[in-house]
Amino acid sequence: MMSKVVPLIQELIRNKCVNTGAPDSGHEIRSATTLKKFFSNYGLDAEILESRPGRASLIVRIPGRDSGAPSLMFMGHMDVVPAVAEHWSSDPFSGDVRGGYVWGRGAVDMLNITASQAVGFAEAYAKYENFPGDLIFLAVADEEASGRLGARWLVENHWEKVKTDYCITEGGGFCIPGKKHPGIAVTIGEKGVLWVRLTARGVSSHGSLPYCSDNAAVKIAKAVYRLNAHKTRMILTEEYRDFIKHLDLGGVSRLALGNTVFLDAYLKSLYHRNAGLARHLHAISRMTFSPNVINAGQKLNVIPDEGIIEMDIRMVKGQNVEDAYREIHKALGDLASQFKIDVIDFFPSNVSPVETPLFDASQEILGGVYPEFRPVPNIFSGVTDARFFRMKGACVYGFTIFDREMTFSEYSRLLHGTDERISLKSLEYTCDYFFRLPEVFFRRIYSAENQHF
Ligand SMILES: [Zn+2]
Repeated sequence: MMSKVVPLIQELIRNKCVNTGAPDSGHEIRSATTLKKFFSNYGLDAEILESRPGRASLIVRIPGRDSGAPSLMFMGHMDVVPAVAEHWSSDPFSGDVRGGYVWGRGAVDMLNITASQAVGFAEAYAKYENFPGDLIFLAVADEEASGRLGARWLVENHWEKVKTDYCITEGGGFCIPGKKHPGIAVTIGEKGVLWVRLTARGVSSHGSLPYCSDNAAVKIAKAVYRLNAHKTRMILTEEYRDFIKHLDLGGVSRLALGNTVFLDAYLKSLYHRNAGLARHLHAISRMTFSPNVINAGQKLNVIPDEGIIEMDIRMVKGQNVEDAYREIHKALGDLASQFKIDVIDFFPSNVSPVETPLFDASQEILGGVYPEFRPVPNIFSGVTDARFFRMKGACVYGFTIFDREMTFSEYSRLLHGTDERISLKSLEYTCDYFFRLPEVFFRRIYSAENQHF
């Protein structure tokens, strides 16, 4: 399969489907065309759907033999985030193979998986032809800018074409090192996301007379400081407790992580040893505030009458917009009455169950590659296209198998980072996982029901 996947990921990288967030960026039609050609070599017909010219997604569905059987989807995105060439050691869109790695923007997020899914899917078709349930490959546009022109658009406008019961996509597979029981993350859900704009008013006047002025920029500055320093209420969800239970930690550490009184002090000390894990545990144990855009003032000699803060809020399972407003009011204190809050975007946290044939099948395949590793159910602090499918009732996991170098810290560093690259070893494992998954998944369902596959 390596002779198939390497040229395919190279071509996807070279297609340069850079999503700047502008509706006319992305140009995913290039990679959709690449994939359509790839599948036609196997006699598979792929359908391309465009949400607007150039913003293409591609679907291949192999109909199942049994109309009552559940369906399984592989979903990957084709777009990548921009890359600043001067910061890279070589051309970010070369797709070159050097030192055992394929280099380029998208090598980890997530052309490696999209290419491996395509190869695994096509090879499974070549070997088995079909399965009890539908097997679907979906490559989407616009994941890097909220999916409005990709997954979200497909789910809202073409659900009949993309519907599935189970789905595997990005966001997991990295190693969580441990001495006794190292784990591999299976991402079962995501935090909720709420983007808000806070607006403060002041009174415009001359910059030469600041005494007792009503300066909106000053209100913004105070508010940003308070929002950033605010400690939101910790909520140790069942998924959080399950995650820490799987970490390879001593009893004292585990106790501290499971107790809201000691948690933050423990994270502070953990940060110096494992910054990535500390950040992750902080994120999945509470609502987070990140005031990322501030704006006030137009001219140097004019006291501004308006200032805005745009803040990225991420919420744990069960929290809603009202909960966030309450926390914002607490953080702002006596400044709260001076701010108007508008919601820019909101999507609630979403989580899939763990007791499923898809989890068990993934565990079985993982056990064959790394017998000593355990799959660890994980909540992703960010968002992926998985959420649109979860809201439709599908069970979606972010999972794949990488080589052992792909630790959580390494994964976080490469994601949208410079010199993004994927090892050939990882590509081999990932391809093999997607090739084997349909057979193992449907076998498990059918053996559970004592039926033959
Ligand atoms: Zn991605």
